[in-house]
Amino acid sequence: MRTLTTDVLVIGGGATGTGVLRDLALRGIRCALVEKGDLTHGTTGRYHGLLHSGGRYVVKDPQSAEECARENEILRRIMSHCIEETGGLFVVTPADDEAFADQFVAACRRTGVWVEEIPVREALQREPLLNPRIRRAFAVRDGAADSFLATHANADDARRYGAQVLTYHRVVELERTADRIIGAVCEDLRSGETVRIHASFIINATGAWAGKIAALAGLRISVVPGKGTMIAMNHRIVNTVVNRCKMPADGDIIVPIHTVAVLGTTDIPVPDPDVYDITPEEVDLILEEGEWLVPGVSHMRTLRAWAGVRPLYKENDAGSDRDIPRTYKLLDHETRDGVAGMVSVVGGKWTTYRLMAEKTVDLVAARLGVTVPCRTADLPIEALHHGAAPDQDRRARARFAILTSPFYLLGHRLAEVEADDSYGDLICECELVTRAQLEAAIQSEGTANLDDLRRDTRLGMGPCQGGFCTYRAAAIWYELRNQHSPAQQAAGVPPASALLTHFLQERWKGVTPTLWGDQLRQERLDELNYLETLAVDRLPETTDTAIEASRDVVIAAIV
Ligand SMILES: Cc1cc2nc3c(=O)[nH]c(=O)nc-3n(C[C@H](O)[C@H](O)[C@H](O)COP(=O)(O)OP(=O)(O)OC[C@H]3O[C@@H](n4cnc5c(N)ncnc54)[C@H](O)[C@@H]3O)c2cc1C
Repeated sequence: MRTLTTDVLVIGGGATGTGVLRDLALRGIRCALVEKGDLTHGTTGRYHGLLHSGGRYVVKDPQSAEECARENEILRRIMSHCIEETGGLFVVTPADDEAFADQFVAACRRTGVWVEEIPVREALQREPLLNPRIRRAFAVRDGAADSFLATHANADDARRYGAQVLTYHRVVELERTADRIIGAVCEDLRSGETVRIHASFIINATGAWAGKIAALAGLRISVVPGKGTMIAMNHRIVNTVVNRCKMPADGDIIVPIHTVAVLGTTDIPVPDPDVYDITPEEVDLILEEGEWLVPGVSHMRTLRAWAGVRPLYKENDAGSDRDIPRTYKLLDHETRDGVAGMVSVVGGKWTTYRLMAEKTVDLVAARLGVTVPCRTADLPIEALHHGAAPDQDRRARARFAILTSPFYLLGHRLAEVEADDSYGDLICECELVTRAQLEAAIQSEGTANLDDLRRDTRLGMGPCQGGFCTYRAAAIWYELRNQHSPAQQAAGVPPASALLTHFLQERWKGVTPTLWGDQLRQERLDELNYLETLAVDRLPETTDTAIEASRDVVIAAIV
């Protein structure tokens, strides 16, 4: 058993946890973070990608709207490399109540959310695929945010100030005396080793899992995991975030992000944040509603569907999930439950993660007698550029190598590929991932599987959904890291063939709900490559039979 000692232990490696970690580290507090998967493994890696202007909440949840509006400006300032300034539109479609628009504008004025009505003609010039029958259009300061990059940026910056990050460490026990939490016991999921962490304070930043963590200490937090499904289209059907101007509901937003546009979302309570699926009804609903914004969208090429779970905090009976406020809640277990040494931070939005972190650390710092003020609203998170920081962790450098301007776009990668003359080295042609980027990411310490590489480099996220890059990536992994020696086998290191099938399965889960038209043809081609040419279902040390099952489904769909 390993033992660690720290002042503050943060549980959860999403936006909130890494934001908290950076804030703690900047205040000089000794801290460590544990995450059961890779960073962004939870909701932060499965959200819609919208940097809220606040417009969505102005009528229904004005406090959230105000928080979003303020944080929107701060995040643009401190992490411009993670945010694309797309701008946003709220539009009144023929299906929407026109009277709501005036209510919307008045509520924007009250809450400080910037808004400007623009002529419908201008909105259509900006977004030619928008429904020509929209009746009014309002410009707002929405944006698109890369949560993978932002989370890693916070964690990397926190490390620079001395924080420790332990991924693939799952908290399985909280240690407490009668009236105090004194530490946590984790399982290192890669080695199987038990790790005991002594801490003066624990911050539970596990989002939808916060209730499960609290229960380990015998405390009760009612978090309702609200599942939301989203669909990625294979190109940017809009370049501006487009919202329906009405009360928040299902399928009423399109967010352009990187090379795709994301339609969403739904809101369905699920009993467990780890157990949910995507139903055909949800996919149909999102596409049907999307038709009001972009007519014909349901016939365009989809890439995949995925879902995440909202960490909705339900203090009392708030009615339906959509009625639960989107503001965050800081729970001080000392004053709330008589158990010192732990706080839980729940609810909120990605857009408000920094504010949540600030308020949480204010409280914890006060308990620890630390008077250093919060600096995260003013101190930009450094974007590491290729070669600019030779002492940096290789993984951080690989991740930021692509950044040549405030926000990464495919064009920037193309410019790098052209400048380096590295066409022959392209491993993922859809997302222009080069061999050098992949090698750097594979060789970095935190990377455990090909899905982690996807989050770092965008491998397999383009139209072919890993069809041509997965086997190349697995082969490079094998060459560099996983010869699968007896020692590695003993340490439980999975063979490259197992990583390959795991990655294909993950991609498959996402494409299954949207298999028709061109994406079905693409999947059929991928399937023939992997099953017929590469016999991936008969690779040594691969026990997963699900590939075989998936093949039957595809064949049935084509017939
Ligand atoms: C469908 C959907 C769309 C959304 N769209 C937007 C949007 O467009 N804009 C916006 O601002 N917000 C959006 N949100 C909200 C936003 O995504 C969340 O508020 C935010 O990502 C929550 O971050 P978090 O760090 O609190 O939680 P998470 O990202 O879930 O992080 C919690 C982490 O805790 C880890 N964990 C759990 N149990 C343990 C354990 N035992 N040991 C160690 N680690 C553990 C999990 O693996 C997880 O990584 C959306 C949410 C959903 C569901």
